Amino acid sequence: MADVETFAFQAEINQLLSLIINTFYSNKEIFLRELISNSSDALDKIRFEALTDKSKLDAQPELFIRIVPDKVNRTLSIIDSGVGMTKADLVNNLGTIARSGTKEFMEALQAGADVSMIGQFGVGFYSAYLVAEKVIVTTKHNDDEQYVWESQAGGSFTVTRDVDGEQLGRGTKITLFLKEDQLEYLEERRIKDLIKKHSEFISYPIYLWVEKTIEKEISDDEDEDKKEKEGDVEEIDEEKEKEKSEPKKKKIKEVTHEWDLTNKQKPIWLRKPEEITKDEYAAFYKSLTNDWEEHLAVKHFSVEGQLEFKAVLFVPKRAPFDLFDTRKKMNNIKLYVRRVFIMDNCEELIPEYLGFVKGVVDSDDLPLNISREMLQQNKILKVIRKNLVKKCIELFNEIAENKDDYAKFYEAFSKNLKLGVHEDSQNRAKLADLLRYHSTKSGEELTSLKDYVTRMKEGQKDIFYITGESKKAVENSPFLERLKKRGYEVLFMVDAIDEYAVGQLKEYDGKKLVSATKEGLKLDDETEEEKQKKEEKKKSFENLCKVMKEILGDKVEKVVVSDRIVDSPCCLVTGEYGWTANMERIMKAQALRDSSMGSYMSSKKTMEINPDNGIMEELRKRAEADKNDKSVKDLVMLLFETALLTSGFSLDDPNVFAARIHRMLKLGLSIEEDEEAGEDVDMPALEEVETEESKMEEVD
Ligand code: ADP
Ligand code: MG
Repeated sequence: MADVETFAFQAEINQLLSLIINTFYSNKEIFLRELISNSSDALDKIRFEALTDKSKLDAQPELFIRIVPDKVNRTLSIIDSGVGMTKADLVNNLGTIARSGTKEFMEALQAGADVSMIGQFGVGFYSAYLVAEKVIVTTKHNDDEQYVWESQAGGSFTVTRDVDGEQLGRGTKITLFLKEDQLEYLEERRIKDLIKKHSEFISYPIYLWVEKTIEKEISDDEDEDKKEKEGDVEEIDEEKEKEKSEPKKKKIKEVTHEWDLTNKQKPIWLRKPEEITKDEYAAFYKSLTNDWEEHLAVKHFSVEGQLEFKAVLFVPKRAPFDLFDTRKKMNNIKLYVRRVFIMDNCEELIPEYLGFVKGVVDSDDLPLNISREMLQQNKILKVIRKNLVKKCIELFNEIAENKDDYAKFYEAFSKNLKLGVHEDSQNRAKLADLLRYHSTKSGEELTSLKDYVTRMKEGQKDIFYITGESKKAVENSPFLERLKKRGYEVLFMVDAIDEYAVGQLKEYDGKKLVSATKEGLKLDDETEEEKQKKEEKKKSFENLCKVMKEILGDKVEKVVVSDRIVDSPCCLVTGEYGWTANMERIMKAQALRDSSMGSYMSSKKTMEINPDNGIMEELRKRAEADKNDKSVKDLVMLLFETALLTSGFSLDDPNVFAARIHRMLKLGLSIEEDEEAGEDVDMPALEEVETEESKMEEVD
């Protein structure tokens, strides 16, 4: 007997196991789907390996999944002739290395998610413990000996070299020792129904070991022989009666076993779309993706002519939990060549931003023994990819015809569309049509750019937008004041990725997209008289601008008189080519950014002041009277810091700002400042301010 090695389950896996075992779930049946799906994956792997090296199939040339219920021992076994696992695979895959989805799945469960979601989190194997108290995995990989993994959960599992057991040749056998109350999974009918429900479109034959009873007429002599040889021949009482009168012949019931094929394997994509029901698509989608919900939309098509392929593409109802997990390359299109599965993570097949689209592509033109390296420069694949993108966009437009569906779709995948706008220059315009935003005029609804254009005012040349952290944060931004006053609609772009997308989009339908927070916002619809008045005003504020720039130093690039604000005293804008406040926030949040780039891109703030605002007018007067007035200095600092906040930037040192405000409050409340309070903050100008109470009132 070979040595038994014991391993502890990794902590999270252990937690998951207790959760599976100790919580009541009504949907236990999904364990079979999960195990069959693992078998199917393992078969895919060996079939792919065999494309380039036929000898890999030698140990077991047939590719199959077999299911054996054993009522006597109360076990259910799932056997496949897939790739199998080496000893190291066994230890790593089934217990010591937790997938990223382990924790997420537990959280989802605790938040009320259904246990049937397990497959999507990459921990489907453990669903075996929904119905089994003990699981034994016997497996043989081409590169290793046969091993047995065994566990009753409870913290540990064992792995043993399998010398004496029945040899598999190649593949894996999973034996479930069913819990007392789960014996229904030994019933033929139940298993068949489950396969039909969850695994019908598995592309390997699934055989069920079934019991057949046949009636046989035999002569007495034969009967005697049989009785000696076989144990499981049953006589029927009536027959026994007859036997007495007709001693020569008798009927017996003989119980035999045979493999019953339980799934149709004709690939759905080869059938005519008009002959496939919605339920069939849904069943296919579920078996393809492990999703527990139906798809949101499907597109089934074939391309003919110089190049031929068939494809079925699905859009799920939700985004997966790890949609933008960079550790995992998302690609959910399975590539087949003339019905043979090739691979399911072919990066060349579909761009990253469409990674959420699931489906199959079956090409008639690619060579069967194609390698990953060959795929990279393959021209056929490039054409397929182009077609897939086109069809995806068509599909999204079809979804957009139904408002509710599109709302769901947009909530789940708008980031992908925006990533597409950013990356896919060829389809940028078409993708832009799919974007939706809240705006100053859209109310609760979202608006498309197309609808925005139909609402544009006469003479309006540009499309205005504002970026920021949330709808709430931008809605009342000082930057919108003039635009709103003039009746221009402004789009709210409040998704981090909007900033990148709009940076690439630049225009829509021939109209420039203009940021309300960047320098150079021109609203050229004023009369000559208005313009002249403004020029004069600007001139009178030139001195204040200079003084303010001196006070603020490097904090701002320049101080200018604003065109865009109506009510607020001032705001901070960024250069046309630098980062907006929102972008600066996003970049600050990204720890890995290049810091040199940060200082270069974020240093270009311009302070715009509002000449019509009372505070500014008062400041102007004081600056005129005495350039070195300390109260001017302090007020300018305070205005700057406040503008940082209202313009969407963050404060480098909120404490200094808070201290400044607190001192103002004290001033407002006429409380005497005690000595120490001012010491730990760097604000030399404040002492003077304190004594000039009247001046501070204007700030209120
Ligand atoms: P997933 O299928 O998402 O990878 P599972 O928890 O279902 O997650 O399976 C974990 C891993 O165990 C698989 O990735 C595979 O490496 C291995 N495995 C499970 N079942 C089999 C099998 N029948 N044949 C070969 N390997 C298997
Ligand atoms: Mg699985």
